[in-house]
Amino acid sequence: AQRVFSGIQPSGVPHLGNYIGAIRNWVQLQKTCGNNVMYSIVDLHALTVHQAPLLLKRNIKNMTVCLLACGIDPKQSIVFQQSQVPEHCELMWLLSCQTPNGWLNKMTQWKSKGATDNKSFVNIGLYAYPILMAADILLYKATHIPVGADQLQHLELTCDIAHTFNSRYGVEFFPKPQPLLSEGKNQRIMSLRNPLQKMSKSDNQEMARIDITDTPDQVHNKIRKAVTDCTSAVTFEPEERPGVSNLVSMYSALSGKTTDEVVEDFTGKETVELKDGLTQVIISYLKPIQEKIIELEEDEGHIEQILTDGARRARERASVTIRGAKELLGIN
Ligand code: ATP
Ligand code: MG
Repeated sequence: AQRVFSGIQPSGVPHLGNYIGAIRNWVQLQKTCGNNVMYSIVDLHALTVHQAPLLLKRNIKNMTVCLLACGIDPKQSIVFQQSQVPEHCELMWLLSCQTPNGWLNKMTQWKSKGATDNKSFVNIGLYAYPILMAADILLYKATHIPVGADQLQHLELTCDIAHTFNSRYGVEFFPKPQPLLSEGKNQRIMSLRNPLQKMSKSDNQEMARIDITDTPDQVHNKIRKAVTDCTSAVTFEPEERPGVSNLVSMYSALSGKTTDEVVEDFTGKETVELKDGLTQVIISYLKPIQEKIIELEEDEGHIEQILTDGARRARERASVTIRGAKELLGIN
């Protein structure tokens, strides 16, 4: 059976990159994978860069609300907060002892995040983050991991760690997890301010991303100011014209049209018209999600209950894996 696991950091509100690259896929998988679907709000990962405590607390709630509003159904999926399942940290230690430093040195994310965040420094947590991610996945022996393309390197590392563990202890204890990219494509939504960087929650320029909670005015303003180039025609050439192509990608992802169809629709028109069209597409796409958010926000007790139930169900599964791993290591 397929076992699905994925996570999102409560480092802000989800943006269109998170939605298109991951969350939308998560919703679909609930239909095909029955009750073998787990989505975690990975607060321990968020701690790798400085988070104001009260804001973090609020972001954990908000993220839960947003996931539900996007269509994650706690009756079909286990939705939980990572830190409420202490086995994540426990397995991380066991896996850390199987992971050569050299593998972590090759990871690109800690270098870029460490460099851009001025309130933090490159701490051990940021460096070791991929081992915690491996633990998240392997704790549930997950087989299918719906993530955005930015996480592929970390997923390969997870496979390497699983393989090392299995071959050292002589059994196929951890299955090899495989990525599920959104519609099989390399869908990476780029920053609206710098189309060579991915859109990120932790980017301190708010204008660089569209949050799913943005008002129509904010969407309008951000798209209008999105960096393009000095050619006014609408084309899809991610290498040569990353800015315009990113707008075409978003248009395509939210309208269900292919990028070719979008380009065709805008032949003879200019990028401003593409921007206007995209603004409308985003606003109407987000409307029902935002209505649902308002509805869910009224019942905080309900959100807490979902996280409590989720943690309990996740722990039942996690404890089985920990017991098995300890047995193999000789410490049970
Ligand atoms: P942070 O800046 O705090 O790392 P983030 O925006 O990168 O936040 P994550 O919580 O790290 O978001 O990732 C959640 C999921 O969204 C992951 O599966 C990740 O691959 C996906 N994702 C993140 N950014 C993008 C993007 N720009 N395009 C497509 N998918 C993305
Ligand atoms: Mg990220």
